Amino acid sequence: MEILFLEPVFKQMVWGGSRLGSVFGYDIPGENTGECWAVSAHPAGESRIKNGEYAGYTLGRLWKEKRELFGNAEGEVFPLLTKIIDAKEDLSIQVHPDDAYAGEHENGALGKTECWYVLDCDEDATIVIGHHAGSREELRRMVKEGQWKELIREVPVRKGDFFQINPGCVHAIKGGTMILETQQNSDITYRLYDYDRLSNGKKRELHIEKSLDVIEVPYKEAVTEEKRGGGSANTWFEELVECSKYTVWKGTVKGKEILKQDRSFMLVSVIEGSGSIGSTPVRKGDHFILPCGFGEEEVCGDFTVICSAV
Ligand code: ZN
Repeated sequence: MEILFLEPVFKQMVWGGSRLGSVFGYDIPGENTGECWAVSAHPAGESRIKNGEYAGYTLGRLWKEKRELFGNAEGEVFPLLTKIIDAKEDLSIQVHPDDAYAGEHENGALGKTECWYVLDCDEDATIVIGHHAGSREELRRMVKEGQWKELIREVPVRKGDFFQINPGCVHAIKGGTMILETQQNSDITYRLYDYDRLSNGKKRELHIEKSLDVIEVPYKEAVTEEKRGGGSANTWFEELVECSKYTVWKGTVKGKEILKQDRSFMLVSVIEGSGSIGSTPVRKGDHFILPCGFGEEEVCGDFTVICSAV
């Protein structure tokens, strides 16, 4: 069965850089390219199938019309979104609602659970994840009084680190960091703090009340227990996280392995190296879907993938 390769969509952002071009070799639209929407059926930027029978189809159309490729998985919208993010500057500090809150307050939209695999970062880089308020009252007071330094939890980050960001978790990537993000297919974000920066002479809009509604207090670290080979038939897979929205693995090929695709469908991003799956060459920067019934193929080469499935 054929691998479905996808054409990414690029987004220019005030905080974006140029490494999606220099490191991943993409033909980026210019400086300040912050995001590569690699596997996306989101209306704000849909990727298209590059090869084979369905070449030119958007992923959304394929999901609607050819559901059998996805094992007849349920859902009105394609459930996942894979992005690569290149932050040259700090991103604003934000939080996402869960499905229940988003459904009620955002016209039935989905909430957002996401996770980050750190592709690269500067030495001494940090990442914002969580906060230090002990109670909801304390959180509200610290936000109102602008005690950001005391409130925001910042931790060191290294290449290869992995973070699960559940709804209600305060988070932000800082400048110099490049990540691969696997997330629910949603764009609902509440901006809590933007470092008091100005863009075009104005501060960007914040969503303080909604943020205060959804932030989990106190902050609890999401459990991301490492289970080598867990949740997958592939011994060369390392499970990064399994939650109610997705399972994400890192796969490392050195030489020959057997790839078993036993899920409804699997999303794959090659983040390092090159090789082949069956007779199909793959290399860093490729993003593709292994459809339902793909079965087993021999994989060869020296490369690393991040895979996800629902
Ligand atoms: Zn987020």
